[in-house]
Amino acid sequence: EKSEVSYRQTLQMRKSFVGKSCRLHFEVSPLKIVRASRQYLYDDTGQEYLDCINNASHVGHCHPHVVSVGQEQMSKLTCSYGFLNDQTAMYAKHLISTLPESLCVCFFVSSGSEGNDLALRLAASYTKKHDVICLDEAYHGNLGNLVEISPITYKRLGLKHQLKEWVHVAPTPKTFRGKFGADEPNSGQLYANEVLKLIQKAKQNGREIGAFISESIISAGGIVVPPENYFTHVYRYIRENGGVCIADEVQSGLGRCGENYWGFQVHNVVPDIVTIGKPIGNGYPLSAVVTTKDIADSLSIFSSTFGGNPLACAIGRAVLEVIENEKLLSSAKNVGKCLKDGFNEIRPKHPMIGDVRGVGMMVGIELVMDRENQKPATETAEILAYRMKEKKIIVGIEGPDKNVIVLLPPLCFTIDNARFVVQTFSEVLASIESEAASVGLMNNKEAVWGHAESVPMDVITGQHSINVSNLSDMDEDNDHDTVTKRARYEEVD
Ligand code: PMP
Repeated sequence: EKSEVSYRQTLQMRKSFVGKSCRLHFEVSPLKIVRASRQYLYDDTGQEYLDCINNASHVGHCHPHVVSVGQEQMSKLTCSYGFLNDQTAMYAKHLISTLPESLCVCFFVSSGSEGNDLALRLAASYTKKHDVICLDEAYHGNLGNLVEISPITYKRLGLKHQLKEWVHVAPTPKTFRGKFGADEPNSGQLYANEVLKLIQKAKQNGREIGAFISESIISAGGIVVPPENYFTHVYRYIRENGGVCIADEVQSGLGRCGENYWGFQVHNVVPDIVTIGKPIGNGYPLSAVVTTKDIADSLSIFSSTFGGNPLACAIGRAVLEVIENEKLLSSAKNVGKCLKDGFNEIRPKHPMIGDVRGVGMMVGIELVMDRENQKPATETAEILAYRMKEKKIIVGIEGPDKNVIVLLPPLCFTIDNARFVVQTFSEVLASIESEAASVGLMNNKEAVWGHAESVPMDVITGQHSINVSNLSDMDEDNDHDTVTKRARYEEVD
């Protein structure tokens, strides 16, 4: 498949014309992905990669049923804001059927961030209180208010951030390298007490909590599964004090946790407001907020041009149909178990695997310098991700210390895929561990990037600026085309 422009041109235009803060995976040798199908990505050379990170492509990239429904609807009606439409009505009904009875009214928007912003508005309109409790390793989106309740964003960059007076931050309820450890049988209660203390402290300062927001499994924090009873206690404290509970299911929702549709079901709680994003449109921008009738009715007006458009809703319906027809909930449970069991099996062989955790198809492997000191192995995680890419497997890195390898594959991921990932991971980590022991790899960046020095630094850093009128001059056969060479090195190898 011939690309419209060369790899080098794509890279240069991206660096020149797209904001530098929009990060790429594999900054040193970014992939140019031109096509995808099921759980596989294909780059501009036709190379196939096993995709372990695109959770938005929930039922598989370009699923034929979703594509054909989308194409058909696109040729009939796309946006018809303010009119009755069957797709929107039928989708709302179908989506609600997957949720507990009390969550019975939908609002549609186009991104997870918009969903969380609306959830905060709904909470405030219902409780008449504007203060929010969030977790210190949370990420909830890119809108102004959401950045304020996404402490991991500035924590990771090491930035000092002045909390807004309406934001109250509770410790992430993690039992590995957390405030309370796995050996503490009451960690759920202890972490919940931290939330109670915040509620009380806010009161003493004349403020009242309107909402508690958390993911059911905390993704950006490194696939943290809150301990037993944490949410039960927290939800009780919040409600006793006149607040509402928001579950951000943007990552954990729609069956990713296996067995059930929703992550909060893992914890046996029912939130007051649920936000749903990424997976429900299988890559098409579609998000929803689902809440109780009383909370929904408290908001006097809401409008969104694209939210709930017939095309998005037709696609949303098709996604639900695929999940049902292909039994993806039980598949997520079984394949997810195979993944987690696999990593637990190799754990004793690898001193750098500190923790293996997750639910269903949300799996995190936390890397540490050694299990005794539990220091985060940040650079090892980065090296590992690059080397997995050389083996044609794409994994993600999360956590406040960027030392947790995360797997959030499309739900069509198979047992064979899972075994392949575990085995390759084990081989790659073993090689890193032995190199680290012999040559101190952790202090040797060169070893990570291999041929990276052949990429002009100006292109990597985005300092390179090009004249638009000269675009046609950027010739693929340019003999200084080191970027292209870099991009091809894996093939050459
Ligand atoms: N909540 C969570 C838990 C997320 O992971 C994200 C996106 N990574 C968002 C909200 C924001 O969603 P979006 O990028 O679609 O605005």
